[in-house]
Amino acid sequence: MSDYHLHLHPHEPTPDGPPPGAYPVEYLERYVEAAAKRGVTELAFTEHLGRCVESAGVLGPFWELEPDPVEQERTRALVAGDRNLSLERFVDVVLRAKDRGLPVLLGLEVDFFPHTIDAVMDFLAPYPWDLLVGAVHFIGGWTFDRPWAREPFLQRGVRRVWEGYFDLSAQLAASGHLDVLAHPDRIKLHGFRPPEEPLDLYERLVAAAAAGDTAFEVSSAGLRKPVDEVYPAPTLLRMGREAGLAITLASDYHTPDGAGWGHGAVVAAARAAGYTHRAAYAARRRTLVALPEIPPGAPAD
Ligand SMILES: [Zn+2]
Ligand SMILES: [Zn+2]
Repeated sequence: MSDYHLHLHPHEPTPDGPPPGAYPVEYLERYVEAAAKRGVTELAFTEHLGRCVESAGVLGPFWELEPDPVEQERTRALVAGDRNLSLERFVDVVLRAKDRGLPVLLGLEVDFFPHTIDAVMDFLAPYPWDLLVGAVHFIGGWTFDRPWAREPFLQRGVRRVWEGYFDLSAQLAASGHLDVLAHPDRIKLHGFRPPEEPLDLYERLVAAAAAGDTAFEVSSAGLRKPVDEVYPAPTLLRMGREAGLAITLASDYHTPDGAGWGHGAVVAAARAAGYTHRAAYAARRRTLVALPEIPPGAPAD
């Protein structure tokens, strides 16, 4: 089986990993070994475009979209502190690992902004991607996913924030530029939800993904957040299945030990929604692969 969302560098340095921007090819073998122990034998590395120094020009100062100067400065500082990776070296090491015969794919987690996506796609065109995963990590220039965002999240209104997130996600999915929508309802990560399950937002997103032929990622990352739930929610995933959307399986881990983490949980979520297959990618072409059987009550890891 597969883990189609992995990073080579955590956001905070660890004593165990290479320094930011360094890419020893042997380090990728550790992901492959850890995943194999979980029965996961196909990995896609999907570094954050926005963390690569080469993305500064093409993504631009998007934090300026945020009207509140305090929040704008938080996003600017976050991006500045996090932008310490190399797109060129990332691509090079994944291609070298492929050449060595490791079961790895070249992917990227692409930060989506409506005003820059066309330029971003031009920028990415020369590279031999196997898949491109699109993600909404910012609403305009506001960073919603950090602990400091909890207070403004509530001040702005939970339903309103969800609407902003789903609106951008629907634009991403409808654009057809990217193969997969990462962690589709990650806006729930803090555990803040509208009082009623927002079926109208789900419907719009699913219709957009069907129109753009964009797959949904089923991710165990939400199990490591306060919300403690797979992305996407059972209702949203079932609606995706009914609309014929393809799915990928993912952990979104940033260290080798987590490769394939939560595989049983994501397969169980996919099966509960009625899925029998997941997507595989090579050179941005999709094929379908049967899901494994997971016994009822299988643990998350
Ligand atoms: Zn992400
Ligand atoms: Zn990620």
